Amino acid sequence: MNQTQYAASSPSLSVHELSQYQYCPRAGLLAHEALFDEAGEDWPKIRLSYLPKYNLAEIERWISVVTIVLVGVIVATGVALGWVLLATLLAKPGAVGFGWWVFGSAFLASLGVLYLIVMLVRRRREALGTKPREPEFTSEEPVSIHWWELRAAGYQPRSPPKFDDEELLNLHGKPWVVLVRGDHWIPVLRMRGDSETIHTNHILRLAAYRYLIEVNTHYETPYGLVLLPNSLKAKAVPASALGQAELKTVIADFRQLIDSRRAPEPPTRQSLCDKCFFGLPHRYVMNRSETYSEGQPLPPLTVKVAGKYWHSKCGDRFRWHTPPTRKFADLAEPS
Ligand code: SF4
Repeated sequence: MNQTQYAASSPSLSVHELSQYQYCPRAGLLAHEALFDEAGEDWPKIRLSYLPKYNLAEIERWISVVTIVLVGVIVATGVALGWVLLATLLAKPGAVGFGWWVFGSAFLASLGVLYLIVMLVRRRREALGTKPREPEFTSEEPVSIHWWELRAAGYQPRSPPKFDDEELLNLHGKPWVVLVRGDHWIPVLRMRGDSETIHTNHILRLAAYRYLIEVNTHYETPYGLVLLPNSLKAKAVPASALGQAELKTVIADFRQLIDSRRAPEPPTRQSLCDKCFFGLPHRYVMNRSETYSEGQPLPPLTVKVAGKYWHSKCGDRFRWHTPPTRKFADLAEPS
């Protein structure tokens, strides 16, 4: 069977499923059988809880908007103070109380808005004050780089389309963002949690995105980027570490597992289950399933802990009562 025939006769895999498989084969199957597809992670949209930090134009726009808001709340504070003075002169205690309430609220709001401006100005200063630098690789090891160093070197962030490759590997996926400069498209991942260690599943994801970018756009990916958790610091992984051989082997192994319909063994390291989304305890709700296999809902496999019934997606799918996660153990220990 050649590669094209193999791809055509096999289900399309997402990069997310592949990296879950690399993490734990059970997690790969659960991700593959879930009833949602990889939508990718969107470039942040403007919302109240979001302050821009990756895009200088956005930071500057926010500084303008927040400055106007600050002027508004300062005016409101002054008006409220005038109201209090007037109401005091007119001996209207109810109006005085209301005036103080408005004054206090507006004063607190102005402090909050001032804090936002300080944060944004610091981000703007960091963005403008960083010198351009590009990663220099002497081996396949990741090297440290800062987001603003790359931006200063001329890379522009862009929200990429969802890439598809139905011809050869039958793979699809969408990196969080790509940094674009000339013929270079750099896929960017963001790490979650608090560990700054680059694991094999990060490398695999970058290799898959590199493959998808080069097949779909014909641009080059000389390296991939992993942003460290809650940080603008990053690790650049050279293209030499993002080869296709390992990617193809993992895809072939994963497809073989899917076709075999066998249940793989859980990992021997409990720490993997501890950090795994599929091992999280969920409260049992009667007649409701949250786990699907081959399009069919699976009955939850419950366990009684501290007087309540719980289940997990991994437990439901692989029929073991509780994956040995710390979170299940914590339920039994009242805090
Ligand atoms: S809970 Fe453990 S066995 Fe289950 S998918 Fe996660 S890592 Fe794998």
